[in-house]
Amino acid sequence: MLELKPNCESCDKNLLPSADACICSFECTFCMDCTERMSAVCPNCGGKLVMRPVRSERLLVSSQQQVVKKEGCRE
Ligand SMILES: [Zn+2]
Ligand SMILES: [Zn+2]
Repeated sequence: MLELKPNCESCDKNLLPSADACICSFECTFCMDCTERMSAVCPNCGGKLVMRPVRSERLLVSSQQQVVKKEGCRE
């Protein structure tokens, strides 16, 4: 699973897990402003910066599997 870093590695701006941010393949994380300023090229590794996937609340909910006992509740 991707590690969601809490701040931009360039300007140290706080990035909420739901905020727009960009990452390179080594998971260097930057805010949108810095990504634009750097022409979407990671200054650490020279890799391309792409939009970070957002872990939405909807996905969190759907990943919680319901536990249903096939045989029902019996004593
Ligand atoms: Zn930044
Ligand atoms: Zn990088």
